[in-house]
Amino acid sequence: MSLYSLFGSFSNDLSIDLGTANTLVYRKGKGIVADEPSVVAVKENSKGERKIIAVGIDAKLMLGRTPEFITATRPMKDGVIADYEICEHMLRHFIGKALKGKTLIRPRVIISVPTGITPVEKRAVIESAMTAGAREVFLIYEPIAAAIGVGLPISEPSGNMIVDIGGGTTEVAVISMNGIVYSESMRVGGDKMDEAIVQYLKRKYNFLLGESSAERIKIEMGTALVEGEAKKMDVKGRDLVSGIPKVLNITSVEVNEALSGPINIIVNTVKNALENTPPELAADFVEKGIIVSGGGALIKNLDKLLNRETGLPIIIAENPLSVVVLGCGRALDDPDLLKLVIVAGR
Ligand code: ADP
Ligand code: MG
Repeated sequence: MSLYSLFGSFSNDLSIDLGTANTLVYRKGKGIVADEPSVVAVKENSKGERKIIAVGIDAKLMLGRTPEFITATRPMKDGVIADYEICEHMLRHFIGKALKGKTLIRPRVIISVPTGITPVEKRAVIESAMTAGAREVFLIYEPIAAAIGVGLPISEPSGNMIVDIGGGTTEVAVISMNGIVYSESMRVGGDKMDEAIVQYLKRKYNFLLGESSAERIKIEMGTALVEGEAKKMDVKGRDLVSGIPKVLNITSVEVNEALSGPINIIVNTVKNALENTPPELAADFVEKGIIVSGGGALIKNLDKLLNRETGLPIIIAENPLSVVVLGCGRALDDPDLLKLVIVAGR
C-alpha cells in the first residue's frame, strides 16, 4: 500500500459510501457531490448482451415499472458487491459525475465497507473501483467512518457504540482506539421493513402493494412506537381477489404492527451486542449512549424504543444518511487519521 502518496493533497480525491440502498460521493474540498440510489437499469438483448440505460435516481424511478427486457437492479446486496460488472459501471458513472466528466483524471478513492466483509469481497471492491477509473483505492470500515462522521473520539481508549441501519443490513459496532472491538451484522434493514409492509397488507386485506410504495409509507408513517393520534394515509395498489386497482386507507398503527418484526430484530441485535461488549467498554455507553446512523435511524420513535429496551441514551446522528461518507471525507482530509483507520488498499 503506497501510504506515502496519501500525504499529497489533490482535489480530485474522492470518498465513496457504496451502500446497498444509496451511493454517496464526497470530493475533497467540495463536500458531497453525488447522492443517489444504488440502482442500475439494464437492457438485455436476445443474445444476452447487457447495456446500461440508466443509473441512480433515473434507474430507481424505473423499479417495478420496466418491460421484460429491461431490469432495474441493485448491484450491492447486504453491503457487498452482488453484481460485479454492473457495480463497476455504477461506480464509473458516479466517479464521472463527481469529477464532472473529467475522465482523464484518475482519482484516489476511499470506499467504506461493512465489517463482516471477507478478503475476497474486499478485493472485489478494490478491483471494481480500479476498473471504474480510480488510481488508488483504500478501504475503511463503515462504523469507523460513521463514528468519525459524527465526531466521536474514536482514538481514545473508551467505548463507542454505533448502530447503522442501512437498506440491507443493520451493523452494530463497538469502537475503541481506532479499531473495531466487537461487531455484529444482521441482514435486516430498510428493505425488510418495506417487505414487511407489503406482506402485512397482503395478509390482512388481500391487497398487493409495490415495494416503492411500501418505502414511501414507511418514510411517511413508519413508527417504532405509536404515540398520540394515529395518522392515516391512502395507498394505491391492487386488490388480489378482483385483480383491479384499488385505494386503501391505512393507519400508522397498522404500519407500526407491520414493522414490528424487523424492528424487534434490530432491537435484539443491539441488546445482544451490549451483552457481548467487554464490561469496561460497556460502562462507557452509560454516559456516551448509543449512536444510530443510516436511513433506518429516521424511523420515528426508534430512539424512544431503543432507550426503553436498553436503558441507555440514544443519539440519532444528525445526518444519518450521510455520516459515513462525511467520515470518509474527513479521513481523506486528514492523512494522519487515514493512516490509522485504513483496512486495505491498493
Ligand atoms: P445503505 O447504506 O444500505 O445504502 P442507507 O443508510 O442509505 O442505506 O439507508 C437506506 C434505507 O433508509 C432505505 O431502506 C430507506 O427506505 C430508509 N430511509 C430513508 N429515509 C427514511 C426515513 N425518513 N424513515 C425511515 N426509513 C428511511
Ligand atoms: Mg450505509
